[in-house]
Amino acid sequence: MVSSAVIPYIDSHCHTHGLPYDAWETIGSTGVAAVVISAGNPHVHREIHDEVPDLADVRRYWEEPIRFSESAEKMHFFKVFVGIGISFMTRVDQWEQALELIPDLLKKPNVVAIGETGIDPIQYFGMRWPLEEQKIVFEEQVRLAKELNVPFILHTPTPKKSRDFLHELAVSEIPNENYKRHFLDMDMEIINKIGLDHKRLVIDHVDETILEYALKETNAYIGIGIGQTLRHTNPEFFADTVERYGPERLMVNSDHVAYVGTDLLAIPKTIRDLRRRGVDVADIGKAVFDNANEFYELNLETQPAA
Ligand SMILES: [Zn+2]
Repeated sequence: MVSSAVIPYIDSHCHTHGLPYDAWETIGSTGVAAVVISAGNPHVHREIHDEVPDLADVRRYWEEPIRFSESAEKMHFFKVFVGIGISFMTRVDQWEQALELIPDLLKKPNVVAIGETGIDPIQYFGMRWPLEEQKIVFEEQVRLAKELNVPFILHTPTPKKSRDFLHELAVSEIPNENYKRHFLDMDMEIINKIGLDHKRLVIDHVDETILEYALKETNAYIGIGIGQTLRHTNPEFFADTVERYGPERLMVNSDHVAYVGTDLLAIPKTIRDLRRRGVDVADIGKAVFDNANEFYELNLETQPAA
């Protein structure tokens, strides 16, 4: 019997569609079984817009990764799934018509969730989207997730730095330690008003400012992104969280995105860190594979077929 440190994992939230072939090959060599791409934003492909994107643009943000997901496995030997949503990181026009496309797109076998989406005070390209209108578009998406009974990926905003090509828009009155919670409260009020089952919800981009709240005040899954430099959460933070709270509702993700620095090995590093700490392999498997497999209903086997 040979032994190997590689534990298969699911990257439960990323924008890998913006990364080049070599990055896919590196990721594919690390034990990844599947990735869930969050689609709906132009900046993940390093696109810059000087006009508000419209229905044709949104369709493209969604349909390109969906088409790619259908053929990627043959080339890179891991499965690719897609979540679709209107995220508020980019203002879009004709969102009513875009929302009408979602039910049919969700019938495709590789499309597994609505999202990411979540109220955000900052939009790319300087195109502000008033919070009151965001709340309406957000509520429509929560309602769709409930009606269609599909997983919902909740984006929580991260305090941005001007270097993220946001310029003066990056300035915020809200102190960093209250920033995520401030907008998460708006989201949760709508989610609970509509009555979306928390078992269908992942609160994503969780850091130490909302971790306790998400664990104690909700029954949602907790997504932690550890593979890109926009946020300070890293493999060590995820491993600390598993050790401290157990793996029950935790889901690891890379949130790899093409416009900031990434660590393609972030999730395998987390797994190795957890093994060094002596965390039970079954518990590691829950946090890096089983929870995402159940949440997104991917029905993946942990062992390759003989
Ligand atoms: Zn993301």
